[in-house]
Amino acid sequence: MSKLVLSETDAQVLQLMRNADVFTDLENHRITNDEPTGSICFTCADGHQIGDIYTRHSNIYEEEACIHTFGLNGGALLLAPNSPLLPLIFPEGVHAFLIQQIDDAMKMKGINLCAIYTHFPCGAATSARLSIMDQLGLVVSAKTFLKKRFPTLKVPLFVHVHWPYRSGDSEQPPRPSMRRTYYMSGKHAEAWIVANRQLVIDYEADLRKKALASAPPPAERPSSPGVWIGTSVATR
Ligand SMILES: [Zn+2]
Repeated sequence: MSKLVLSETDAQVLQLMRNADVFTDLENHRITNDEPTGSICFTCADGHQIGDIYTRHSNIYEEEACIHTFGLNGGALLLAPNSPLLPLIFPEGVHAFLIQQIDDAMKMKGINLCAIYTHFPCGAATSARLSIMDQLGLVVSAKTFLKKRFPTLKVPLFVHVHWPYRSGDSEQPPRPSMRRTYYMSGKHAEAWIVANRQLVIDYEADLRKKALASAPPPAERPSSPGVWIGTSVATR
């Protein structure tokens, strides 16, 4: 797939979330104190973005740390047990395989932190017609699953944005294009979505309208993830 460019609508919605501190600067997440040994880093394989994601994640650590990276199409979206990105034929088998890979890495490397990433724009998510809220809901679902499966594992959420032409940081002058990694609070994201319900409904209705206008629907799209009760994500 060629390099994707974030749509103007998605950039506007992500900017609103950034302004509301749903996404905060990476430096403010003291991951090194939490788990100085290193991270299992679960991210999308996107060849245009993974280099930047890996470099910035490595830079969180002041000392050399083990960054044990899994790069697969869709990244942490695959870790949600209800992910529509998992192949429909063997959903339990594929998900169990991914979780076993994390289990093995924890034991092999003595790591107790799994940083899970989603990014915008993501080709795998775009192919499955996931909205921003779908993507964020799936990584929250992935975190919930991992915490239940590995009760002592720390699972911070990260969001990587390739801003197309506007600045993601209001205090900085706009630049033609830039990449940023943010730490995300699932609780803040949920609160933002609930507080901006009408905006979310309009945004997702617009996405569906554009999708219908551009191409036929995917063959067997599973039902919407519906992670967050009380939002349009859960009800459509
Ligand atoms: Zn991707």
